[in-house]
Amino acid sequence: MTSVFKFCPQCATPLGAIEALEDGGPKVRLRCPACQWTHWNNPTPVLAAIIECTDREGRVLLARNAAWPGRMFALITGFMEAGESPEEGLKREVAEETALEADRLALVGVYDFQRMNQVIIAYHVQARGEVRLSPELAEYKLFAPADIRCWRAGTGYALAQWLRSRGHEPRFIDLPGRA
Ligand SMILES: [Zn+2]
Repeated sequence: MTSVFKFCPQCATPLGAIEALEDGGPKVRLRCPACQWTHWNNPTPVLAAIIECTDREGRVLLARNAAWPGRMFALITGFMEAGESPEEGLKREVAEETALEADRLALVGVYDFQRMNQVIIAYHVQARGEVRLSPELAEYKLFAPADIRCWRAGTGYALAQWLRSRGHEPRFIDLPGRA
């Protein structure tokens, strides 16, 4: 997903697709013809938590976003905020979205998600406590690792890699409406 700017955020001049010489050669980007402001459109870092509930036999919490059609359950994700490390951001997201307390965090990997212009930073999070979902989430389910199915994009690859590291060969499902 590409965010669309129409006007320069510095001087309010209408932006245009303008070629300029960059380190890698000439490149067309959305730029301001007046002050040369450039819309770099860098990918946004997104934090994703594979939450292992240490007080629920190590089952993994997946949640369904209230805005999604169908009954798909996914990792807890959220945008990083200014002034926090990935670990701090994840603890905050896990607390805000599930009310669980994150005890231990370990990096699983970094995954591109170009369709959304995002980079996913996925952690294995050991957490415990009573689940209280934020209004953004409609419901959650606790899965034994062997029962988890992964989709073939973004956080699905993170989940698959984590499952493999735990001795479970990941099984994939195709999302409805996407080949
Ligand atoms: Zn400008």
